Amino acid sequence: MYTKECLERLKEKIDLIELVSSYVELKAAGASYKGLCPYHDEKSPSFTLRRGDTHYHCFGCGVHGDAIQFLMTHLNLSFQEAVESLAERFQVVLEVVDQKGPKVDLTPLKEALEVAQQFYHYCLLEDPRGKEARDYLLGRGLTVDFIRRFGVGFAPDEGALFRKVMRHHKVSEDSLHKAGLLTKRGSGFFRGRITFPIRSSFGQIVGFSARKLREESYGGKYINTPETALFKKSHLLFGLNYSRRRIAKEGVVILVEGQVDALRLIDAGLSYAVAALGTAFGKEHVGQLKKLGVKKSYLLFDGDKAGRAAASKVGDLLQEVGVDVVVACLPEGSDPDSYLAAHSVEKLCDHMERGQEYLEFQVAYLHKGDSPAAKTALVKRMQEQIERWQEPLMVHESLKKLAALVDVPQQMVRSNRPIVQKAPVKKGPIDFARILEMDFLRWLILKGNEKPELLATASSFLTEQHFFTPACKRMFCHIIENKQVDLLSCAMALGEEALIDEIMQKKVNVERVDKLFVETVQRLCDRLWLKESEEIKLQMQEKSHSEEEVFALAKRFDALKKNRPSVTLISCDNT
Ligand code: ZN
Repeated sequence: MYTKECLERLKEKIDLIELVSSYVELKAAGASYKGLCPYHDEKSPSFTLRRGDTHYHCFGCGVHGDAIQFLMTHLNLSFQEAVESLAERFQVVLEVVDQKGPKVDLTPLKEALEVAQQFYHYCLLEDPRGKEARDYLLGRGLTVDFIRRFGVGFAPDEGALFRKVMRHHKVSEDSLHKAGLLTKRGSGFFRGRITFPIRSSFGQIVGFSARKLREESYGGKYINTPETALFKKSHLLFGLNYSRRRIAKEGVVILVEGQVDALRLIDAGLSYAVAALGTAFGKEHVGQLKKLGVKKSYLLFDGDKAGRAAASKVGDLLQEVGVDVVVACLPEGSDPDSYLAAHSVEKLCDHMERGQEYLEFQVAYLHKGDSPAAKTALVKRMQEQIERWQEPLMVHESLKKLAALVDVPQQMVRSNRPIVQKAPVKKGPIDFARILEMDFLRWLILKGNEKPELLATASSFLTEQHFFTPACKRMFCHIIENKQVDLLSCAMALGEEALIDEIMQKKVNVERVDKLFVETVQRLCDRLWLKESEEIKLQMQEKSHSEEEVFALAKRFDALKKNRPSVTLISCDNT
C-alpha cells in the first residue's frame, strides 16, 4: 500500500488532458477538448474533457471517470498498475508502506536499472567491445532501428568496467545489489551477453534478460535478473508493455518461448505477442492474460520435444480457465525469430491459422499406438484432463470432440461426474452482504460524480450502519464526507487496493442508472430494517425481560414495521 502523502502528491500532478491525449486524439474546442470516444463507436466526437477538470465525460455513451478509471478501464490495468503508470508519467516518487511498517523506496533501484540500460545500449551501438554482438544481431536480420526501439544492449566481458561506469554515474553499490545487477562477489551480473530490458506492463525497466553471445561461454543460453523487489518472474510477461493494448482490445494473444521471438513478432506488426521469462508460462501468467480478457491464444513454440511438451502443459492451463488454444508449433529447429528472418509475416500468420486445436494436438501428443489398451488409456487420461477444466460448455464440447477424434462412441466418453463449475479462486461461502455493498459502491464510483442525485439519495437514506463489511463502510463514509468520488482518495482512506480492483471489475448498466441505483439502496435499507426487526423479536423472546420491557420492545417493533423505508431518488437542483 502506498503512503497517503505520495498519493496526494500524485493527485495534484495528474494532467488528465495530457494522459488521455496519448491514447485519444483530442481537439481543443473552447474551454474543452473533444475526441472520438474510445468506449463506443462514433463518427463525431462526444468524448469531452474540460481544462482543469479531473474527469472525462462522453455525451454519447455516458461513460465518465478520472485518470485512474481511464487506465483501469481503457488499458485494463489494476489499481496498483494504474497508480504506478501515473507516477511514472507525472514524475511522482511512490512510497510504499510495508505491512511491517518501514517505507520502501524503489527509486534507487529504478535509477540503477536505467543507468545500466543506458550503459548496455551504448556498448552495443557505439563501443568497440560491442562490435561482435552488433555484427551477430545484424547478421541475424535485426536492424539498428529494432535495436533502438527495444533498447537491446550488450554487457561486455569485463565485469570491473560495469562497476566503474556505475560509480562514475553515482549509482550506489547497494542499489546495484538490490536491483540484481551485481553478482554476490560484486562484479557485473551480466557479462558477454546481449541484453534485453524487461519492462513492467506499463513500460518501466524492472530487470534484464540476457542471451549469451558465444555458445561455448559459461551459463545458460538466457539468464534473467534474479528476483528483486521489482523483478518477480512469475508475474512478468515479456513484451506485455508493447502488446497489452491489443491483447485487451482483441482478446487474442500469441505466446512464444524466447524474448527475441516476442520482439520480432511485435516489430513485424503482430503486437499481441508475449513470452514468459525463464522456463515456462505458469498459472499466474495465465491468470493475468485471462484478466486482460483473452479468449483465444496461439502457442507458437518450437517443434522439438521440449517445445511440444511445453505446448501440452501451457495449453492445458489456458483451456482450464476457458481460453481457446491453437497450437502452431514451428518446424523443428526454427523459432519465430528465425522463421521471420526467412519468411514473411503473412506466411507466419497463415501458419498460425493452420495450427491445431488444442484437443487435436493433445490427442496426437499422447498417442501411444492403436492397441485397445493404448486407446483406453488415452481416452481415460484425456477425459480426466478435460473434466478439470472450468467452463462447463467447454468441457461438454471437448468431450464430444474427443469421441470423434479417437473414434469411439459418444457415450463412452460422456462425463461420469456431474459437471460442476469450479468456484472461482475464493473459497468459503459467498458473501452476499459484501456483494450488495460492492454493487452500491460501484454505482457511486462510476456514476456518482456525474449524477449528484445519487450521492444525495445515498446520504439521505443510508448511514454507516447499513454497511456490514468494514472496508465498504469506510469507503462509504469517505465518499459521503467528501461529496466527491475519486479513486485515489478512496484508496488513501481505505488503505486497501484490492477492494478497488474488485469494484472496478464489473460494469454498470448506464441506461437504467436511476432505477437500478434506487433498487440497490432499497435493498441496503431493507436489509438493515430486517436485521433490526429480527433483533427486537429475539429480545422479546428472552425470558429475563420484565413486562414493561417487553411492552416497550413491542412498541418499537410496531413502529419499525410501520416505517419500512421506501427509497426514492432525491433530485438535485443545480443552483
Ligand atoms: Zn462514448
